[in-house]
Amino acid sequence: MPERNSGDMGELKDVVRGRAQKKAVVFDLDDTLTPNTYLYDNAYREMQELLSTLGFDPKYAKQKMTEIDIARAKANGFSAERFPTSMVETYRFLCEERKLEPDPKVEAELFKIGNRVFEGPWVLYPGAKRTLEELRRNGFFLVLLTAGDKEVQARKIDSLGLRRLFDVIEIVGMKNVEAYTELIKTYGLDPEKTTMVGNGLKSDILHARRAGINAIHVPAETWAFESLDEQQMKELRDLGYKRAENITGVIGALEVNSGASKSKIRS
Ligand SMILES: [Mg+2]
Repeated sequence: MPERNSGDMGELKDVVRGRAQKKAVVFDLDDTLTPNTYLYDNAYREMQELLSTLGFDPKYAKQKMTEIDIARAKANGFSAERFPTSMVETYRFLCEERKLEPDPKVEAELFKIGNRVFEGPWVLYPGAKRTLEELRRNGFFLVLLTAGDKEVQARKIDSLGLRRLFDVIEIVGMKNVEAYTELIKTYGLDPEKTTMVGNGLKSDILHARRAGINAIHVPAETWAFESLDEQQMKELRDLGYKRAENITGVIGALEVNSGASKSKIRS
């Protein structure tokens, strides 16, 4: 019985690999298929309101929070505790500067505000579902590659009804070059026939290009974590990538440039 099962799995893998060999599109989730940054903006606003009632400068609080949160994301990666805890850490930092004792009630309230970003509501961008369905109809192997807390992202994916729209869904700790290389290896993808689509210039575009995958940037508001320094900007310009105005524009970007995946096309 186990042998039979493993044989089936082997066949299944071959089918998956066979499809993957054709042409694949890898999608980012947050702010590419579903708006996400606005939830963080709302949390920031609520944090600033609360801290300003306690006499702290809201602008300074926001700046400190960004610094603390990005430093923690770079050091420890993404987890569901990171963002709400960064709010608490920011408050503690501000208190320490003024030699004040942090109030546990305020800390609890800040954690709650930060935690709300994981509660949605989740909706797809207009045309996102249609775009995925059309690509599928055209024989593309579709991968969803998202970085973040596994439980939070899985809940979001379920509530958006994305499981049936993708061949493969991968939730990773960080979308670095290793993650793309691993994806290529696991599913036997051909990098030249694979395109990453996302809003993050660093995680989605630069890292995919470094892994030899094509990339389409769909601009959307994002956070400072995705900022490139001058050298990285230059590297990305040299590597080249495509742009689509929004998610539905991805179809045009793929068709227009089909068969020219080796060339460096920018619009
Ligand atoms: Mg994103």
